Amino acid sequence: MREKKANVQQLFPSEDGNPQTRQMFMKLIEQIVTGADELKNPDGVNLKGEKNRSGHFYNNLIRESAIPHGSIPMEEVNVELLKLLHDHPYHTKYFLTNILPMASLPGILGMITAFMVNGNNLWDVYGPAGAEAEVRVTSMMSKLIGYDALQSGGYTTWGGQGAVFSGLRLAIAKYAPDALQKGVPNNLYAFCSEAAHYSLFKSMEASGIGSDRLIRIRTHADSSMDVDDLAIKLSEVIAQGGIPIYIVATTGTTDAMGIDDVAHIYEVSSQLTNQHGLSRPHIHADSALGGFFAFFNDYDFEANPLAFSQEVMQALIAIQSKMKHLHMADSMCFDFQKLGQTPYLTSLFLVKDAADLRLMDLHPDETPYVGHRGYGQYHTGYTLECSRMASSISIYSALLAFGIQGYQQLLAQFVEVNLAFRAALKREIPQVEIVNDDNPGIITLFRIYPDSNPGFQAEISGKCTLKEIERNNKFNERLFEMLGDHRDRIFFGDTKKHLLVQTKDDSSIPLYATKIFVISPYTETRHVEEIIEYLKTTITQVYEKYSESSMLSRR
Ligand SMILES: *Cc1c(COP(=O)(O)O)cnc(C)c1O
Repeated sequence: MREKKANVQQLFPSEDGNPQTRQMFMKLIEQIVTGADELKNPDGVNLKGEKNRSGHFYNNLIRESAIPHGSIPMEEVNVELLKLLHDHPYHTKYFLTNILPMASLPGILGMITAFMVNGNNLWDVYGPAGAEAEVRVTSMMSKLIGYDALQSGGYTTWGGQGAVFSGLRLAIAKYAPDALQKGVPNNLYAFCSEAAHYSLFKSMEASGIGSDRLIRIRTHADSSMDVDDLAIKLSEVIAQGGIPIYIVATTGTTDAMGIDDVAHIYEVSSQLTNQHGLSRPHIHADSALGGFFAFFNDYDFEANPLAFSQEVMQALIAIQSKMKHLHMADSMCFDFQKLGQTPYLTSLFLVKDAADLRLMDLHPDETPYVGHRGYGQYHTGYTLECSRMASSISIYSALLAFGIQGYQQLLAQFVEVNLAFRAALKREIPQVEIVNDDNPGIITLFRIYPDSNPGFQAEISGKCTLKEIERNNKFNERLFEMLGDHRDRIFFGDTKKHLLVQTKDDSSIPLYATKIFVISPYTETRHVEEIIEYLKTTITQVYEKYSESSMLSRR
């Protein structure tokens, strides 16, 4: 028996722009957008729909899944796609968990634009739209932070982690250009703070240098790098014959929004390496998250044209005064899928001196298919990826649609709501201690303490035993679990690595903390009271359960 064959051309956008195909396409898009809208529930976090992702869920998926033999009509495929969204976390006002933003409309439209031509951003002969957008956004962001746009360069890559890795590749190539052929020398070292993202750890593994050659620098209580400790550790490495090639300055830590002082790091590392006849290590500002506060670099805080409150202004000035040194870094990153309001994956890696990229470029002999021809002027042979999506188009779209002022408004709203959370926590829940109070921004970390146990000040000044802090951590973990069980109602975050503290008995231990991360444009100051009330109820339950269990154990 012969089967009916599908018309496979119908599965593509039209060749000629005919209205029938366009209408079919629009209808299918409308089906998705409407379907997602029908699942929305602004009174909770998760989208509606039945889905139990526990137990044998993934195992069952493996058993059930197989490619259909024949073609399934696209309307029916859409129905299946929409089922994936059932019970999915969504960025309502109660979404407070982490740096997981909503994709904005201009961000989504930029992606769709890129998909309409599906160019390959590897080479402008194949992807001229992406090349143009990439050059434009690299220039725009360079100018924002104070790089010379005619000298700087950049490209979109696989995340803030990819940017840290690209910085490391540059650092290696700058110190040992022949490392690309001969392999990496065995005396190279990299540095970052204890509060840095694990991107550098991974990069050291992946580059073959090894994570043992990553030196961790102590942090201050505000999670910023202790530059005196950097100086000590740089000297130690040099004294033992090591070469410091790479320093990652975290400008906006992922948990506490601590900001390293790039200018001070620059100064100290140049001086120290200079003394020993070495060149200054490559400095990468890991500004994946925090860099977006550079949007306030030119804000007139005197005239305050957007009429921010005094408190918000103070917070913004404090952040901006540290971010204004970003341009001293040799490379940096903007994770647009974080505060740039674009979809995954839209990270922009920037280098102060585009000539550095040539150190990582492929030799023409190595690129038989693309680039280095008499035609085409833009070939990104220096990226680790070969084919690349034109995610710069989404970035371009968002930058145009928000403008500097739109970003200022949105970020200031996050800061304002965060300030309101801190004030309400202090007022309403006396058991709570905010543990990143020195860092204004969009994140609040807090801890709770069982009955008479010493609190945060004792913990960070080394007055607690390991046992006491372990007990406090356990207590906070109970709160994580209780909040986590009901995350479809209000979705808080948590971290098990806020500040590594020294204990009285000479060990060190990271602190656990619950996180309120203001990231949804729909969370406003008027929602704070209700959210804090919910938190208060849950915290009270943690204390009640705790006193029951300690009474039982006393019996
Ligand atoms: C998020 C983040 C990263 C990792 O970025 P990805 O885009 O997830 O790869 C690295 N560093 C910092 C400071 C971050 O906030």
